[in-house]
Amino acid sequence: MRKIAATYIFPCNRPPVKNGILICGPNGTVVNIIDNKKELKEESGLEFYSGILVPGFVNTHCHLELSHLKGKIEENAGIGGFIGKINTLRNEETESIEKAIQFADRKMWAAGIAAVGDISNSILTLDTKIKSKIFYHTFVESFGFHPSRAERAFEFAKFIQNEFQENNLNASIVPHSPYSVSKLLFNRIKENAFAEKSILTIHNQESKGEAQFFIDGTGPIANHLQHNLGIDISLWQASGKSSLSSVLKYLSAENQLLLVHSTFTKKADLDDLKKCRSLKNTFFVLCPNSNLYIENQLPPVSLFRNEKLNICLGTDSLASNHNLSVLSEMITLQQNLPEIEMEELLIWATLNGAKALGIEPGFGSFQSGKKPGVNLITGIDFKNMKLTEQSTVKRLV
Ligand SMILES: [Zn+2]
Repeated sequence: MRKIAATYIFPCNRPPVKNGILICGPNGTVVNIIDNKKELKEESGLEFYSGILVPGFVNTHCHLELSHLKGKIEENAGIGGFIGKINTLRNEETESIEKAIQFADRKMWAAGIAAVGDISNSILTLDTKIKSKIFYHTFVESFGFHPSRAERAFEFAKFIQNEFQENNLNASIVPHSPYSVSKLLFNRIKENAFAEKSILTIHNQESKGEAQFFIDGTGPIANHLQHNLGIDISLWQASGKSSLSSVLKYLSAENQLLLVHSTFTKKADLDDLKKCRSLKNTFFVLCPNSNLYIENQLPPVSLFRNEKLNICLGTDSLASNHNLSVLSEMITLQQNLPEIEMEELLIWATLNGAKALGIEPGFGSFQSGKKPGVNLITGIDFKNMKLTEQSTVKRLV
């Protein structure tokens, strides 16, 4: 048994405990939290840390297979510049890509990340995921703007999903974004998700360009499809509505859904969403560092909090972020929105992420029987109970 004490323990399923002791079994299973009523008594074998103990983080949106693109895409290039560059940079040597994937996986583990929802377009991450100490749910992402590509794109996604599942890794097939998936492919994914009762995720309202493409069919997305990819977009009929409102019908209400980014989501979109599905199985994944990297804009967090949405956090990929660190995402939010309590941010980073990925029975909080991992965060402003730019994380279990 390990007895770990710290200035505060944040179990994340109940209020923080001052000077508490977390008891863990040899394999990291949480046994109990002892509440000393704020007085810490000396005890043999007790480890004490100045800082806070929190459960392992859940990163609900990552693209491990883009890890070799770190530092290769300029910041604030906007969505057109970003997706155009990704397209030309994807084809590097497999060996160097796999090395970057493995390195990123290890860094995430060291940064206290216990579970990841990872977008994959290939099986490049398979070996790393088999060996990793991190729990992975792989979102096999399918795209194809032209309906003629739908069947081939879906079959390919099915092949990749099988490769992961045969190695006992969770995997579900998901659409890339509202603007890159034809109706035919959307329907194929929807039927499949409904039959498998699987978790869906989609990049949602990441850029202004996405809105423009749905409103009048022009802008950087239209340019990218035509000029970078050489696709004939004459079939495209702009719906005149927001991208989210246009595709809600393909995201079946029975399936758990993770909407990623939502940088340009408005109140009217949320009203439309509530007409189509419950907020209970809908999660909003914020990736603030990536949003600042690409569009230099943060999502409307205050609106999301007022609407009492389920919020969780993601790092996105190293193509649009300097680190794959959930703590770093929390610090960015804390700096920009000082009114948010640290405890709320921690719940987004742990328990809400575990719920989003359907792994709450084992992850996300210090409840007995769970094996969520134990992180120590130091550099806390205890007077105001806030994270600071100096906050760092160390994995203890
Ligand atoms: Zn992404």
